[in-house]
Amino acid sequence: MTVGVLALQGDFREHAQVLRTLGADVVLVRRPEELARVDGLVIPGGESSVMDKLARAFGLADPLRAAVRAGLPVYGTCAGLIMLADTVVDGIRGQESIGGLDISVRRNAFGSQTQSFETDLDVPVLGEAPVHAVFIRAPVVDTVGPQATALARLADGRCVAVEQGRLLGTSFHPEITGEHRFHEYFLSTVAAARFLG
Ligand code: GLN
Repeated sequence: MTVGVLALQGDFREHAQVLRTLGADVVLVRRPEELARVDGLVIPGGESSVMDKLARAFGLADPLRAAVRAGLPVYGTCAGLIMLADTVVDGIRGQESIGGLDISVRRNAFGSQTQSFETDLDVPVLGEAPVHAVFIRAPVVDTVGPQATALARLADGRCVAVEQGRLLGTSFHPEITGEHRFHEYFLSTVAAARFLG
């Protein structure tokens, strides 16, 4: 299985490492030719407004939209979740997302870097053991539209993980905590999509 990691900006190395540990062939994606070779794509954490600018500058924004529309499995963490949201309620002026997830997200919903936090989350699709989740200037999913499903919520009810068909998104960063179940879950989607075409 060949899995791409969007490598324009952010913590793409950490994702690549987790995916390799799980047995995937990893391609760092910076050009449309690299995107065309992958069976699935991870969009890392970082800064969504910068990632958006770079995606446009590298001629990747439209190919990414086309790939999502064509059914490419994509997993976005944090800034990657923002990139996958149909609506970004507080994007920096002119900021565009790739879209695909029927959600609206609010960037930096928990405040600044110093208000970053960790917590344990129940994620029923991943089994009983809680997920230790790290939130770094994280977004929250403000509204979950009818096409999307919430996979995890904070104790106060705010949604922080979603799924819609072959798209998966988390506000937090499993790639930095040794938590591999989201990546495994994503790879099973990639494998199924490869089989079904
Ligand atoms: N606050 C960042 C953004 O708006 C996301 C932070 C992260 O990816 N850890 O894109």
